[in-house]
Amino acid sequence: MLDNLGTSLKDAVKKLAGKTVIDRVAVDELVRDLQRALLSADVNVKLVMQLSQAIKQRALEEEPPKGMGVREHVLRIVYQELVRLMGTPGEVALGPQTILMAGLQGSGKTTTTAKLARYFQRKGLRVGVICADTFRPGAYDQLKTLCDRISVPCFGDPNEPDALKIVREGLPKYRKLYEVIIIDTQGRHALEENLIEEIVNINEISHAEHRWLVIDAALGQQASEQARRFHEAIGIDGVLVTKMDGTAKGGGALSAVAETQSGIVFIGSGETIEDLERFDPDGFISRLLGMGDLRALVERAEEAVSAEELDVNAMLKGKFTLRDMYKQLEALNKMGPLKQIMSMLPLGGMQIPDDAYDITSTKMQRYRVIMDSMTPPELDDPSVIGSSRIQRIARGAGVTPEDVRDLIKYYKIMQRALKGMRGMGGGKFNMQRMMKKFGG
Ligand code: GDP
Repeated sequence: MLDNLGTSLKDAVKKLAGKTVIDRVAVDELVRDLQRALLSADVNVKLVMQLSQAIKQRALEEEPPKGMGVREHVLRIVYQELVRLMGTPGEVALGPQTILMAGLQGSGKTTTTAKLARYFQRKGLRVGVICADTFRPGAYDQLKTLCDRISVPCFGDPNEPDALKIVREGLPKYRKLYEVIIIDTQGRHALEENLIEEIVNINEISHAEHRWLVIDAALGQQASEQARRFHEAIGIDGVLVTKMDGTAKGGGALSAVAETQSGIVFIGSGETIEDLERFDPDGFISRLLGMGDLRALVERAEEAVSAEELDVNAMLKGKFTLRDMYKQLEALNKMGPLKQIMSMLPLGGMQIPDDAYDITSTKMQRYRVIMDSMTPPELDDPSVIGSSRIQRIARGAGVTPEDVRDLIKYYKIMQRALKGMRGMGGGKFNMQRMMKKFGG
């Protein structure tokens, strides 16, 4: 999404370099570049105008924070306003729930249903899928094939024309057996009355906790209309944007978000069942701004970190205890998903296993309980923890030894990541040098 934005913004921001006061001409120019990029990415005109207004006003009226240059000040405002434009990401609870999928035919609804099933399955939840698409021939077979691949049960009947009947039969059955139930509904090429009527009925009998709308990223301005109709019918509370791998646009998704006053929950980024990502506006914009990302990252890191009284410098000098790690996790949680943050740091191509990023609040809680069973020397230097201590800690915390190992494994990954950061600054954590490396 907004592929061109990074470049044009960089050019625009360059023009502010070296300035000591913000002038109207420079800000106007920057806003115009920004508008052009957003409009060409299909972002709704009204949204673009609101954003431009906000940026102009803030850039000209707000005093730059002490010690911050004009360029950084403006960049920070642009960053914050873009994040706001992206909306708050939709909540994804990792617990029992029913999710109703809405969207037009071809949006990627069936594929995304299977991807979601996989997502929740990977989080350790028992998932079942119901195919309530009785309109499109082959819909059940398609979904069933996808679900079979990940061993997720798929309820449906290719010979039953009544979708409501399928839901009435399947849902109570599946609710007894599974924690997360995803209902795929019919889609049509256009917003026909029958389609809306059916989904309203399914919504009524299913009492789904969530009603998520699937939107093709390439959809453009029509996204508003679709979102509005589905929202009026069933109350959309999350948007899934598919095919982000295939387009530089995606602005339509933002219109859908604005229309439903919900947030983007996931992004589909490919055709395989694993190609689903949680949406994170901060990380998204940070990466988009390229050279600005580290700056923004560090600002926020400083804020979050000071709140946690985390001694970054000591950590970078090599003193990194389990207690530090816990504090750091708390701080990082405030900054957004770890994966995006790590992807912005120059870790020298270090491979971090995907699971390492999955720090959910449940996991944090578990870590806290495990750490409570450790002795102070163990907390200060986890390398003393051998297998008998692991057994003892696990018993004390009421968890499995595997859980304790998981915590230690995580600690080691973080420790290595810190070493990577230290290496790059020539022994010292030097932000300016880090920025230079990134062309800032
Ligand atoms: P439905 O009619 O809404 O159920 O759409 P389908 O799930 O059948 O998807 C339509 C087409 O889009 C299929 O060829 C999918 O493989 C493809 N598709 C779905 N999501 C994505 C995605 O995130 N990226 C790419 N490249 N293709 C996707």
